[in-house]
Amino acid sequence: MTRPLIGEPMALDLVNSVWVDHGRRLDQFDEPDGLESWLADHDMSGTSADTAAVRDALLQARSALRAALEDGDDGPLNRVLAHGFHRPGLRGGAPLVATVVDDPARLPAWTAAADLIRLLAERPDRVRHCAHPECVLWFYDVSKNGSRRWCSMEVCGNRAKSERFQKSHPRR
Ligand SMILES: [Zn+2]
Repeated sequence: MTRPLIGEPMALDLVNSVWVDHGRRLDQFDEPDGLESWLADHDMSGTSADTAAVRDALLQARSALRAALEDGDDGPLNRVLAHGFHRPGLRGGAPLVATVVDDPARLPAWTAAADLIRLLAERPDRVRHCAHPECVLWFYDVSKNGSRRWCSMEVCGNRAKSERFQKSHPRR
């Protein structure tokens, strides 16, 4: 099954590479082309690094992001981020920020981990978990009034609506 939610910032899109469909946990990185398409979605394909090492680093960053978001545990994410840094510079007089990592296989994982820091610096209150209790997805609410509650209105919004309806109209 394809992923229910796309287009979130890179950090959350990595967290959302695991989702639950009818009680089954699915992982994009278990799909044959899952890693390749995730990297392509984030302009990170074509790396010369070893694919297995890229995948391992992403899985590590993903659980670190979850630990930070869901358990308030900063340690794992800080350890991922310790493998790289941003180096500001100039090219032809224009500002440029380069990402430097100690191992090229860590570049996608490091970039995704650093992206959460950017989101939390910009709008910490807008980094939110889908309001449906059985949903595991996260989103960045860019709506004007910050009222977004669901990963997607079509999936979880409607799911919640019909569950409310069933509760208020019990079958006899
Ligand atoms: Zn949801």
